[in-house]
Amino acid sequence: MLIVQKYGGTSVGSIERIKAVAERVVNTKKAGHDVVVVVSAMAGETDKLISLAKEISDMPPEREMDLLLSSGERISAALMAIAINKLGQKAKSFTGRQVGIITDTSHTKARIERISAESVREALQEGIIPVIAGFQGITETSEVTTLGRGGSDLTAVAVAAALNADLCEIYTDVEGVFTTDPGIVPNARKLEKISYEEMLELASLGAKVLQTRSVEFAMKYDVPLVVRSSFSDKPGTLVVKEDRDMERVLVSGVAYDKNQVKITIMSVPDRPGIAARLFKEVADANIVVDMIVQNISIDGKFADISFTVPKADKDKAVEITEKVSEALGAKGVSVDENIAKVSIVGVGMKTHSGVAAKMFETLAKEGINIMMISTSEIKVSCVIDSKYTELAVRVLHDAFELGS
Ligand code: ASP
Ligand code: MG
Repeated sequence: MLIVQKYGGTSVGSIERIKAVAERVVNTKKAGHDVVVVVSAMAGETDKLISLAKEISDMPPEREMDLLLSSGERISAALMAIAINKLGQKAKSFTGRQVGIITDTSHTKARIERISAESVREALQEGIIPVIAGFQGITETSEVTTLGRGGSDLTAVAVAAALNADLCEIYTDVEGVFTTDPGIVPNARKLEKISYEEMLELASLGAKVLQTRSVEFAMKYDVPLVVRSSFSDKPGTLVVKEDRDMERVLVSGVAYDKNQVKITIMSVPDRPGIAARLFKEVADANIVVDMIVQNISIDGKFADISFTVPKADKDKAVEITEKVSEALGAKGVSVDENIAKVSIVGVGMKTHSGVAAKMFETLAKEGINIMMISTSEIKVSCVIDSKYTELAVRVLHDAFELGS
């Protein structure tokens, strides 16, 4: 088999860890597989580089940030290749440029456009283990770019797709994907298998195991993923195409996200074009809106519109909303920072009814008020007061019998 193994920051967090991982890589090779390694920067390195830049400037140029941050992954790639060589296997490190990972020009969150991987294929043919610095690429004009936080996952999946690998293993410090955060619910269970769609919902809902874009990419190119720990030999969680078994389970996991704020514009005139105007301006500022709820007053003349945005975009979003509010003669804008989004996810919802009702009932029993609701085919999300997050996660996990 051809296996791409990606090791995250904690897996390569020290020289000891790098040596341990090198051994795992060598064992995989000795078991008769072709291995390609992708590494993250050593744990904490990317944050350290960011804070160095911030000591100089609040707004460092993004081009320079990309060159700076890409160095973290280069260090761990070279060290890993040294460690593998030391164990008697041939290994060679590669930067994003050397792998031919071509991206668009949006610095700090570039999208991969294509990958040549010629150098990697050549190395494999010569029996050499390629070790790729994750998280980076270059533009058509040879500018260094990075792929957004957690972007080494994307490198691994994209390289696996380009090489048509049999498997892409994502090594991290947890044993796989859990039914919920084990830090909140001690009897959370490791899932053996989960569909791309479910993983995508969980990833974007704040379960931090995989970068969202890497899951989208894996789904698009049908790359089988395994999330597992580099600290143990346990099998991990397989992320694959949906199958029959999965549909039998109503809910696969409970996720939460405390990283959003709710903004409300009050009493805007209820006529066509208002929402369009507001959300166009928000979108133009490159802010991703998650949930939207609109309430019409009883006389039908006015509406309140509430929406959520990432905390990091709060100031910008409020400024825009206030401007729109004034222009439209609305009553004003209010902001609620103490919110959390709690969600249940499962492909089984497609074929079973009553799942949402059970969620609302479970929250109601605990006296938890629901401020906003949104649903998709495989997900129900509720915005609640953030002080009830842990309680909500726990009772939902129980209600859908997810524990072990
Ligand atoms: N080092 C980068 C980060 O911390 C990319 C990664 O680890 O995947 O976000
Ligand atoms: Mg990561």
